[in-house]
Amino acid sequence: MPEPENVTIIGSGPAGWSAAIYASRANLNPLVFEGAITEQNRLNGTLPLGQLALTTEVENYAGFPAGQLDQFLKTAIDPDRIGLMPPLEETRHAVTGPELMELMRQQAVNFGTRIITDDIVSVDFDSRPFMLTSLEGKTIETHAVIVATGARANYLDIPSEEQYKNQGVSACAVCDGALPRFRNKPLVVVGGGDSAVEEGTYLTKFASKVYMVHRRDALRASKIMQQRALKNEKLDIVWNHVVDEVLGNDTDGLTAVRVKSTLDDTPRVLEATGMFLAIGHTPNTDLLRGKLSMNEKGYIQWTTPYRTYTSVEGVFSAGDVSDDYYRQAITSAGTGCMAALDAERWLVEKGL
Ligand code: FAD
Ligand code: NAP
Repeated sequence: MPEPENVTIIGSGPAGWSAAIYASRANLNPLVFEGAITEQNRLNGTLPLGQLALTTEVENYAGFPAGQLDQFLKTAIDPDRIGLMPPLEETRHAVTGPELMELMRQQAVNFGTRIITDDIVSVDFDSRPFMLTSLEGKTIETHAVIVATGARANYLDIPSEEQYKNQGVSACAVCDGALPRFRNKPLVVVGGGDSAVEEGTYLTKFASKVYMVHRRDALRASKIMQQRALKNEKLDIVWNHVVDEVLGNDTDGLTAVRVKSTLDDTPRVLEATGMFLAIGHTPNTDLLRGKLSMNEKGYIQWTTPYRTYTSVEGVFSAGDVSDDYYRQAITSAGTGCMAALDAERWLVEKGL
């Protein structure tokens, strides 16, 4: 059996790569399991490179103002991987999600990070070193683990929704709301929680009007958020309705959303250029159930404020998998850095 790994990172979003950059620069020789390229992961939105790889432009990641990035991308990224990104265009606006993720991955590789393109499917945290098993059946012994498996947005799971993802259907208003296709046009937000109100309110800054489609006659959102929603004249709450179908065409993308009443099935068509889902997220923690403390929604709990410690000593977590509140690339990258520093200090303390 080879020597145990110092630190193994599970996950390949901003948290995983930031942890890898810090861990490799600390000479920990980290190993990253970036996920497997499988149909199941494609359907779940959990292919390698994480959630950001599912989006178009990323305008709010510090350090990436809009500009001509072509030469930078061509010189920064391994030529073998250039073809994996959407084609480079001559006129650019902001960096795209896939480009940003390739840059992060490349930065980790440049400092010596080793990568395996496979899922971790089971973990044994009872023995030390810990034991991880991959989908392809590889077993890894490791002293420390950083869990950065992220989360996935919940979608309605209707076929027409899938068809218009990136052409009007989005699960992140903060990320996509300011894009030209959504400006001065009516939009639809689905959900009745704090996220729906927050995203709906945010979108009223750009949209001509926002329909908030909610399946009940009362919002789940906190009182203050409810007041904010009810006071906003550009926010029209469509009570007791669910989305029936997303309408559109190949040229224009989404053009309308057909909803139906939950009371009597009456259909109604809402003309819009965008539909934003705010119906919750699911953390990618199935393989960790019963192994680490989680909150009631399955997010891994940090056991100490401002530390990435989990309920198992030597296992750290970072990014959306431990965060059902901020859910941003930059916060994930920040906690990825924290997890690497925490792991490094823990390994030194233990003399490992
Ligand atoms: P994720 O990005 O969720 O990545 C985790 C990845 O780890 C998974 O995708 C998978 O490949 C891998 N993984 C999971 N399980 C395993 C396993 N068992 N074994 C091995 N690998 C595994 N945020 C912004 O700041 N700006 C934006 O503009 C923006 N746009 C967005 C657009 C969309 C459509 C979405 C869905 C989200 C957007 N976000 C944006 C949010 C942002 O993408 C997330 O906050 C961020 O990606 C979370 O990073 P993470 O590292 O925690 O995990
Ligand atoms: P949430 O509170 O779980 O609300 C999800 C909403 O989506 C609910 O209204 C739910 O309807 C609806 N929904 C769920 N599945 C649906 C489906 N299949 N079809 C139609 N509607 C569906 O999630 P959230 O709003 O993302 O909030 C998550 C957490 O973050 C909460 O703790 C929240 O307080 C917090 N948060 C806080 C703020 C803030 O304070 N500024 C902002 C955002 C989030 P029902 O109501 O009928 O169940």
